[in-house]
Amino acid sequence: MTDSDWYEHGAPARFQSDLTDAAFDTLAVRAGQLRTPEGEHGEAIFPTSSYVFASAAEAAATFAGERHGNVYSRYTNPTVRAFEQRLAALEGGEQCAATSSGMAAIYAVCIAHLQAGDHLICSRAVFGSTNVLLEKYLRKFNVDITYVNPLDLDAWQNAVKPTTKLLFLESPSNPLIELADIRAISEISAAAGALLVVDNCFCTPAAQKPLSLGADLVVHSATKYIDGQGRCLGGAVVGSSELIEPVVGVLRSAGPTMSPFNAWVFLKGLETLSLRMKAHSENAMKLALWLSAHPKVAKVNFCGLESHPQYELAQRQQTLPGGVLSFEIAGGREEAWKLVDATRMISITANLGDTKTTITHPATTTHGRLSEEQRQDAGISQGLLRIAVGLEDVADIQKDLARGLDLL
Ligand SMILES: *Cc1c(COP(=O)(O)O)cnc(C)c1O
Repeated sequence: MTDSDWYEHGAPARFQSDLTDAAFDTLAVRAGQLRTPEGEHGEAIFPTSSYVFASAAEAAATFAGERHGNVYSRYTNPTVRAFEQRLAALEGGEQCAATSSGMAAIYAVCIAHLQAGDHLICSRAVFGSTNVLLEKYLRKFNVDITYVNPLDLDAWQNAVKPTTKLLFLESPSNPLIELADIRAISEISAAAGALLVVDNCFCTPAAQKPLSLGADLVVHSATKYIDGQGRCLGGAVVGSSELIEPVVGVLRSAGPTMSPFNAWVFLKGLETLSLRMKAHSENAMKLALWLSAHPKVAKVNFCGLESHPQYELAQRQQTLPGGVLSFEIAGGREEAWKLVDATRMISITANLGDTKTTITHPATTTHGRLSEEQRQDAGISQGLLRIAVGLEDVADIQKDLARGLDLL
């Protein structure tokens, strides 16, 4: 059997599962089948930079695209391909392009689908590095950018110009857990003839499927819940082949592609994604209820709570609330830091999507670059703390936070 036989068609028939109409949890462990003639059960890692050909003619045919086969791992790698197929299946997209990080995914989408003079409408509540990418670099190439309050549908609509090509949002937002109505914004985007891109990092397809809500492209930081155990950096873009092919072109030429080892870690991460997201959500729900009842806590932001102003939208748009919440204590920076410093178990880090619970003070870390006025505008007070709830026993997480809350 030649390389192209199994590469293109997957395993010999008896190693192939029939995934017609398979459910999410089945796709999570079975989609992206690629087996060598060895018949290995687990997914193989292909740590190779290049591939060999049987003859000069075969090399020429492969380079010319007349024969399917791998040439070089910046273009294609079997392990990366398996991850791409599995994530595409889970997001309900035709094709996926894996990247070296979440930021590389966002970068590649912008470079592939925008050009000088185009207009981009971006939610004002996006990941800090996304802001830097747009402001410091895309602006340099004369891309026009408008920021809008993601909750304000009129603001999205009013921002549309004849040159608008792309709308970008994250939902829920960090750290306030505000939801953008993906379906409604996709209608504005479609009417404008623009693409809606959704950063689905906080939810993952186990909790939210933006493509089914009308988004054109989904971007991921696989670094977070897709790995879920804090080991690797990676990212991905999912959507129709028509929209992914230009992204693949950028990745092949610019080079921020995923390593085979990382792809293998993410493949295994996807197998437990659904179970983990349920467990994160359940722990976060318990913690949110406990915090809500605590006398030292002024406000809890979590879309699983009925008190969340967009609870109804959350129910419609997401199947799980996810693992990230934030809360405000009565007090400012000093009190917030006291609570952070009183923890003995929870990790003080801005990362999220890990089995280990993390705590961060957004005003002086992730949102430290903003001016006090911008922070107030964005609703990020000095008394706000963000927790990415992990998979420890929730009683231990509560005990760790209670120590600091009792000092206030
Ligand atoms: C972490 C993160 C990113 C960037 O991902 P990297 O893998 O760190 O490059 C993008 N969006 C969101 C919402 C994130 O949390």
